[in-house]
Amino acid sequence: MRAHNPVAVVLIKNARLVDPEAGIDGRRDVLVASGRVVLVSERISPDEARRTPERAEGADPLLLIEGDGLWLWPGLVDAHVHFREPGFTHKETIRTGSMAAAAGGYTSVICEPNTDPPIDSIELVRRLAKKARAESVVNVYFKAAMTEGRHGAKPTDVAALAQHESVAALSDDGDPVVDPAVMEDMCREAARADIPVAPHCEDSPAALQKRAAGVLSGFEPDAPYTNEANYVKRDLELAARAGCRIHFSHVSLARTADIIEQFRTTRNGAPAATFEVTPHHLLLCTGDFAQGEVPGVNPPLRSAQDRDALQHALSSGEVDAIASDHAPHTAEDKARGASGLIGLETTLGLVLSHFVGEGKLSVSDAVRLLSASPARIFGLPAGTLRPGARADMTLIDPRLSWTVNAEEFRSRSRNTPFGGWQLRGKAVATFAGGEEVYANPAFELRKTLWEARRS
Ligand SMILES: [Zn+2]
Repeated sequence: MRAHNPVAVVLIKNARLVDPEAGIDGRRDVLVASGRVVLVSERISPDEARRTPERAEGADPLLLIEGDGLWLWPGLVDAHVHFREPGFTHKETIRTGSMAAAAGGYTSVICEPNTDPPIDSIELVRRLAKKARAESVVNVYFKAAMTEGRHGAKPTDVAALAQHESVAALSDDGDPVVDPAVMEDMCREAARADIPVAPHCEDSPAALQKRAAGVLSGFEPDAPYTNEANYVKRDLELAARAGCRIHFSHVSLARTADIIEQFRTTRNGAPAATFEVTPHHLLLCTGDFAQGEVPGVNPPLRSAQDRDALQHALSSGEVDAIASDHAPHTAEDKARGASGLIGLETTLGLVLSHFVGEGKLSVSDAVRLLSASPARIFGLPAGTLRPGARADMTLIDPRLSWTVNAEEFRSRSRNTPFGGWQLRGKAVATFAGGEEVYANPAFELRKTLWEARRS
């Protein structure tokens, strides 16, 4: 809930501030007043902080946080989550999803439109945005559907949707637009409205059916979930022709990453093409599991070669963002074969343990992939703690060892493939608009309240 913060002035001292957008990686004091960063400096005294002109009238207490030994990052941004509202609130709600996000260090999320009904109208966007303002502890954005009902035929009202501040992109989620003419129209609409398209380049039952009817030539008809690279190739060309920005969800195959990289190097001046990878495609492969026990997810887990290629793309700077694809399901739904895994509460720990901790990624690159870059791709006011920015912040203890235990999750669902994993590094406090929205119960943050002396 974004209630008024009784402590309007917060001073975080001596944390290692990592803000690649501002070119900072070093010890800094950060002063927050009325929900915004007002000063970043090597030393800010509490007295100086109390005198800040930005301090809200009457909001006197100053909260002093000792950040020694901690990292301070701009709040994480997840470009791909499913909060299941409306329609599937037994799996997740905006409220529970937002609490899972805050616990994982996230302060902004973009929800997919595969709800029931799907997010394909401005009326529903307005209703959900209002609900999020009232119930969410983090900033919630949406991908609006490209076509009505996500059926791949009739375009939604892109002009109206794109104008809403909560709509960050267009996507039909797991049902790619099969008809190339419809997809090209959507790319043109998106270019006109200056909003990115974010297709899922995966096979879906509907896509397989349409392809069997001959709508798409050149695709592999009989091998489900192998057409990712074909869709990506097609959509790169359509987006370039239409002049729209395109961001690919959860790339899972080595050859897909290659195609995007090739496109980017040969088409200088073409509108940006970006892509995300998920922690599960980066860290798991089918070979890790016995037959019949591979966790169900779309796109599916791939070979060890694909996993290694994604890791290589990540450390060589080709990947634009890490997104969790947080997809909550009940145990019963999973038993019935529902696809999807949750990730909001594990992604940061996995990235810190398996990439930063192993020297495959610098701390500043991790901030870029988990915050700055997704914020920039989707035009969100996030991803940096420069003065003037919204005070969305994550305090991390890089040495905190913990074991993934789904029973402790804030999410309403438990479907993680990482249960029992030993990780090192975790968010210990998360602030959205200067307000503390998560405090790790296993960590004692050193906080002092300074009472003001009114003059
Ligand atoms: Zn998804």
